[in-house]
Amino acid sequence: MEAISLTINGKRVSCPSGTSVLTVAEANGFRIPTLCHHPDLKPFGSCRMCLVEDEKSGRIMASCVTPAAPDMSIQTASPRVLTHRKNIIRLMMAEHPESCVVCSKGNRCRLRGIAAEMGLGETGLYPMANFKAVEALNPFIVRDLSKCILCGKCIRADHELVVAGAIDYNGRGFRSRPATLLDRPLEQSTCTFCGTCVSICPTGALSTTLSGYVGSPEREQVTVCSFCGVGCLLRAGAAGERVVEVNPAGVQESVNGATLCVRGHFAHDYLNSPRRLTAPMIRKENELTPVSWAEALDSVADRLLEIRKAHGPQSIGFLGSSKCTNEENYLFQKMARTLIGCNNVDNGGVLSGRPAFSVIHERTGWGCRVNPLARLEQAEAILMMGADPGQSTPVLSYYIRRAAQKGIPLVGVDVRKTDLTPFAAAWICIRPGRDLEWIYCLTARLWKRFGHDATYIEQFTQGFGPYCDAVSAFNPERLCMESGVDLAVLDRAVDLLKGRKVTFIIGDGIMRQRQGPGVVNAVLNLALMTGSLGHDRAGLYVITRENNQAGAWDMGAVPDALPGRVPIGDAAGRRRWERAWKVKVSPDRGLNMIRMVEAAEKGTLKALYVMGENPVLSLPQHERVSAALEGLDLLVVQDILDTETSRLADVVLPGAASPEKGGSFTNMEGRITRFDPVVAPPGKSLPDWEILDRLGQTLGNPQPFRSVEHVQEEIARLIPPYGALNPMPDDGWAWLRHAEPARLFSGREDGPLIPFSALGDMNGDDGDETYPLTAVLRSLRFHLGSGTRSGCSRRIAAFAPPDGISISPEDSRALNVSEGDTVRIQSRHGSITRAVRINRDLLEGCIFIPTGVRGNDALNLVDLADVNAPGFEGFTRCRVQLKKQGGADEAQSH
Ligand code: SF4
Repeated sequence: MEAISLTINGKRVSCPSGTSVLTVAEANGFRIPTLCHHPDLKPFGSCRMCLVEDEKSGRIMASCVTPAAPDMSIQTASPRVLTHRKNIIRLMMAEHPESCVVCSKGNRCRLRGIAAEMGLGETGLYPMANFKAVEALNPFIVRDLSKCILCGKCIRADHELVVAGAIDYNGRGFRSRPATLLDRPLEQSTCTFCGTCVSICPTGALSTTLSGYVGSPEREQVTVCSFCGVGCLLRAGAAGERVVEVNPAGVQESVNGATLCVRGHFAHDYLNSPRRLTAPMIRKENELTPVSWAEALDSVADRLLEIRKAHGPQSIGFLGSSKCTNEENYLFQKMARTLIGCNNVDNGGVLSGRPAFSVIHERTGWGCRVNPLARLEQAEAILMMGADPGQSTPVLSYYIRRAAQKGIPLVGVDVRKTDLTPFAAAWICIRPGRDLEWIYCLTARLWKRFGHDATYIEQFTQGFGPYCDAVSAFNPERLCMESGVDLAVLDRAVDLLKGRKVTFIIGDGIMRQRQGPGVVNAVLNLALMTGSLGHDRAGLYVITRENNQAGAWDMGAVPDALPGRVPIGDAAGRRRWERAWKVKVSPDRGLNMIRMVEAAEKGTLKALYVMGENPVLSLPQHERVSAALEGLDLLVVQDILDTETSRLADVVLPGAASPEKGGSFTNMEGRITRFDPVVAPPGKSLPDWEILDRLGQTLGNPQPFRSVEHVQEEIARLIPPYGALNPMPDDGWAWLRHAEPARLFSGREDGPLIPFSALGDMNGDDGDETYPLTAVLRSLRFHLGSGTRSGCSRRIAAFAPPDGISISPEDSRALNVSEGDTVRIQSRHGSITRAVRINRDLLEGCIFIPTGVRGNDALNLVDLADVNAPGFEGFTRCRVQLKKQGGADEAQSH
């Protein structure tokens, strides 16, 4: 781009043509006050605070919307500019309520800050306070539009960043204000309560609930959200040792910029829940009794060693956490492998589709792990499957909405419509469990229409011919009929994808179902066929539900791999770790989380150490899991909250939440982010890495780490993709480094080719007379996973997210069920009772059940089994029947 030069306050500066005067001035160290400007929003020029003067033309102009021009001579604070600016702020202040003393924005109010900087005392104008009622109708956002200065930031953030379309200007002149359509309450609009408007508001017009009387934050620090796999950067504000406020960190190049979602923004109040564990406890006379750390750790070590001596190392299990840090998961698995001698280590990621993730890792290595979400907005086309990011990973959904807004074709495929359906150029509704059918159909149609990349296939892949012959042999009409897909809609999708590099987004609906690994193989084949893997404007994004699901696996908190994802059966890889740790490592694959519960039921597992998971609630079949854990000789639970699992424990060790400790997380993009503590852990609780380090010493480790940095040093030294963890760049994050990438990721001529895999088995769901409906189980945006943490949020609890099931109008008529009726949903494995909502966007024969609510009891409908166990349907769907409760017409479904 052509460079131009101009003068600002007497200094000669240059910038690319098209740069605004404000941007070039700020880049050169000149500060210009602004109210309506935000670097992530389009320039608006409404507040006129950024006025500057061009000495040459004599013009006064808003610098945010004026492009710099050659030979301008700009003065940012000339007497004329200051007079105008002061008059504007006087007018604003005259209209502003004088309630600064009790305003939750306090000293952070930009309006007040600018007025103070300009030395504005009395306005000298007759007060024209524009009083409006304070609205605190929902548990998240308080609106006091008397303080609104009409900067439009909330509206523009809604339209440009979150793309929710919930609010716009309403009224004219003095009555103008931001409002929803028809001025309905926010909860009746498309608002998702992400809180972006609250953080971006420069005054106290928008604030969070529960912020009154807690005091303004005394200090703020950047940390990482510990809910979902997006891993947003937060700015946590603390008063004393309590986190009292959370806002987006607004850091350039961060995954979330100025946005968050309802969980990240508002559910952090779980940190101050009365259910926080604050002291170590040991069960004495059947009561959990507070004890000292020394007594608790001695007790855990003594009993673990006794059990190992009596029953062998395989009688002990370690359940780590996809919510704990990399450092903690590393220490946890190291304790299991080197101090106890077993590979019975797992984390909650097994419930989020690790077998399907393994397929990607086995076929592409670390190569496609780094996928910046920012690339989505430069994609050529997006194909999203089995995903509902608006609920599971909302910040990811903002990227997709913005991409669609820019005209990037979005094709969505799912068993139901979601809030992204209106953004899609084509939306394919499929029958549950019929993913392979439509993917093969799409593949065959693309191939027939020359939608493949012959050069790429030749250069980077092998085995395309036989694969394509097999796919082409299918009858598309029959595949579409079996999967419930409209062939015309599928062909529309083919037209949108043909000749483009495709960005694939795969969600829970695929990863957590029985056919997950087969479907992922088919998607990878499609990605290879279209030449999309390894391309800058395409790639493969797999949604990770938990914040550190990827990191926990990388750190080896899994039963079949050592740190660095080295397979436990890889003798050379195992020897490398044996040399590093100076111990023998068992070559036997350990038990995963579900097998540990089964082993506890059989009595072969005697002790279980659970860190940061609540298996009683997160696993299916709560009573069965409880009974299994109660039968153990020793249950140790290290957690931050009093949970359904900790209540069964023999020893409870209180850990720390992420704002209370240092460490790192690895998000779904392959970004490692390091963070430091914002506040101290409550009571006697300790950072989890410190508990593990101290316990390791008690168990006989002669070389404790003593600091989280020393753990990071070892990880960086021994796990090459984590080499950037120590020393970490100053901005606190780095991408995973590729280790042995395939040829298409490395550009090496002699790298390995990626083979097309054989076709998977299309063993769809063929129906069942006793259980004629298919229940689809997924969480809503207010809760994640089992809802253990979000269930402790006062705001989320007060909002009472919808917990009813949804059924199609066709099924409601067939079952004689109306909106609001109570029904009993029965599967082969359990039953629940819920109110009914009729949803026109559901296919006939399919019902939707939200998880994470009501003690996550929906999981009682699902079997407790490995995802690849024969007959298992997966964690996201099951066959059910439905009976209306009460009344004369209580009748079995269909
Ligand atoms: Fe936290 Fe995920 Fe929401 Fe970001 S999208 S704020 S990481 S829950």
